[in-house]
Amino acid sequence: MRLVKRSLRGGNLASMALPPLVEPSSPLSAGEIERYARHVLIPDVGMEGQRRLKNARVLVVGAGGLGSPALMYLAAAGVGTIGVLDDDVVELSNLQRQVVHGVADVGRLKSESAEQRVASVNPLVRVVRHDVRIDSTNALEIIADYDLVLDGTDNFPTRYLLNDACVLLGKPDIWGSIYRFDGQASIWWAEHGPCYRCVFPEPPPPGLVPSCAEGGVLGVLCAAIGSIQAAEAVKLILGIGEPMVGRLLVHDALRQSWDVLTVNSNPGCAVCGESPTVTELVDYEDFCAMAPLSGVGAAGGPVPPAAGGAVPQISALELADLLPGGGVPPDVLLIDVRGSNERAIAAIAGARAIHLDEFRSGAAVAQIPFDQPVVIACKTGVRSEEASRILIEAGHPDVRNLAGGVLAWVRDVDPTQPRY
Ligand SMILES: [Zn+2]
Repeated sequence: MRLVKRSLRGGNLASMALPPLVEPSSPLSAGEIERYARHVLIPDVGMEGQRRLKNARVLVVGAGGLGSPALMYLAAAGVGTIGVLDDDVVELSNLQRQVVHGVADVGRLKSESAEQRVASVNPLVRVVRHDVRIDSTNALEIIADYDLVLDGTDNFPTRYLLNDACVLLGKPDIWGSIYRFDGQASIWWAEHGPCYRCVFPEPPPPGLVPSCAEGGVLGVLCAAIGSIQAAEAVKLILGIGEPMVGRLLVHDALRQSWDVLTVNSNPGCAVCGESPTVTELVDYEDFCAMAPLSGVGAAGGPVPPAAGGAVPQISALELADLLPGGGVPPDVLLIDVRGSNERAIAAIAGARAIHLDEFRSGAAVAQIPFDQPVVIACKTGVRSEEASRILIEAGHPDVRNLAGGVLAWVRDVDPTQPRY
């Protein structure tokens, strides 16, 4: 990362005003003027600014933790057209932070639930639902219809996809990221500053950075970061203030600290640099799966993950057959590589806890008998596959990965346990 730490109120931050992103709409009605009166009173917004908001088209990718406050504030602010892109359904474990959804929405499409909530906040907003998974086949077509993108996703393939699509289309990508008590936000806009790849040229190795689904997130942190993204969207639309282009906001909710790092364009950037190698959208699942195991910054570019072929899999139902009464397995060693807080939510009785970190450090191998069949489990089967591969490469002759992880066990074998 190319970072220079500056104080939050440092006077030497480059002031970068940009022209308004959106032209004003036709004049507002009396009802609109009354609704938006507190905006119209602000000299930097005024009647003209409110008309720019009405004409604006914002795509919110992900109606989840970050998308929830962003959607509601953008709608309340009078952004005329809001795209909601999400193909997930609302789950009970979403409600701790995804405040755009309610109890009655569990099981519904998130885009449908968000559309209804936005309409209840401001029926003047036109919502365009995209009930699809965004990928390299549809991203350019979808994003082309919008003035800017607000990235509320929680995975690296989609982040790189949105970044590259916005670079190729010349649009700003307002990015946010959250994990436990830590939040970050910035605007990636290659025409005026760095893009995501300039600062994060390569994704972390698969499984190295836990997601909120694995590691948890403070619900209210979503409000802090998602509403900053919405504020930056409004500023860009109006052309006011100093947009967070070239600055990365780093928030620690435990310390209640807000730091700003300066981030610079990279002339060697693969997508926005002087000689780009990415000139069209690629397969981002592949790109992130091929991340170098040595961490960021490897000069030679992505390298394939360790060889070893497919890891043998076992389904939850097959595993249940091996565990009479669901208890301690007589002839199979079941290993759970998750953390203790995850195991406290849902677990398979009789599993032995050996954390994934112990596999990575090499300490796990010495604890595992090589003359006994082993099944390895995590939440969804991704981390356990990494642990399985490590054990196989250490020479263990009989290792299987629990496909779908403990979530599959809860779904297929023991639905009395909570999901997360
Ligand atoms: Zn770049």
